[in-house]
Amino acid sequence: MKLPKEELLQIFRQTNALLDGHFLLTSGLHSPHYFQCAKVLQYPKYLHLFAGELAKHFEYSEIELVISPAVGGVVVGTEVGRMLDVRTIFAERENGVMSLRRGFEMKKGERVLVVEDVVTTGGSVNEIIELAKKADATLAGVGFIVDRSNGKTKFNAKTFSALLMDVITYTPDTCPLCKDGSLAVKPGSRGL
Ligand code: ZN
Repeated sequence: MKLPKEELLQIFRQTNALLDGHFLLTSGLHSPHYFQCAKVLQYPKYLHLFAGELAKHFEYSEIELVISPAVGGVVVGTEVGRMLDVRTIFAERENGVMSLRRGFEMKKGERVLVVEDVVTTGGSVNEIIELAKKADATLAGVGFIVDRSNGKTKFNAKTFSALLMDVITYTPDTCPLCKDGSLAVKPGSRGL
């Protein structure tokens, strides 16, 4: 049922969400790829496509509420919520802690789907899972577009991602791209 990986990667490349080259990441590491999911979600047809993958997967999970971490997850969360036709909210950081603000709430026993755009370590998703536990809500699933841990990040729930991806990184002194003589560039420079 999943869309083929090659097709998804092609969409990411077409929309410049996925760049190939030699990049200096904010972590200081070098990588042959740079990925910015928001770039592909600019286009309603792709947002619809990816949200549809998630919505289809959880169609029979009796979801009552979709919740996403701000900011990255909100766009896809809203579309998944619209497709499932359920109440949709988001959590946001307040003094560094993921919280429900604006009068948003999770109700006791409510079947909750956590939706995120990209998961690497799963930190934000896990914080929302903790919020759900505190509220006595039922964690019905976790869905996200891209798993950048290539399946290594696990959640204690029914989990679905549209695409598994590995993050390839090198320390500057072991970077084969540097050895080939090219210079690592910060994404965003050179008008990227
Ligand atoms: Zn390098």
